[in-house]
Amino acid sequence: MRKMPGCIFCQMAAGKKPAGVLYEDDQCLVIRDINPKAPVHLLVIPRKHITSLNEDLENDTALLGHLMTVVGRVAREQGIDGAGYRTVINTNAEAGQTIFHLHIHILGGRALRWPPG
Ligand code: AMP
Ligand code: ZN
Repeated sequence: MRKMPGCIFCQMAAGKKPAGVLYEDDQCLVIRDINPKAPVHLLVIPRKHITSLNEDLENDTALLGHLMTVVGRVAREQGIDGAGYRTVINTNAEAGQTIFHLHIHILGGRALRWPPG
């Protein structure tokens, strides 16, 4: 599994940093965002270090698909599937990416405006 030294999400995936994991399997983990922007704010994090969607991900399509199935699964478990929720992947500076290890935000538990800021 590709890891990046000093990457906080790689450290969490390796169990080296406490993370309060809600769900995990061999490919990914789901944690609560430390600075939540909605009543439910989760992060789906692949164990493999992928910097962002800007990478060549041709060989990672199964992993990316799996992450999407985990989104639906945890949304159902959190009870936000019926009312609705938003999934967000920020890529690079203007989108607000601050951690350069791919992750999917799941935001729910309140009405979300569109377009996002
Ligand atoms: P982004 O800005 O899209 O790269 O998202 C990074 C997210 O990680 C932000 O929403 C942060 O609040 C969150 N975050 C940063 N450090 C931690 C941490 N130690 N545990 C959980 N979430 C974190
Ligand atoms: Zn990483």
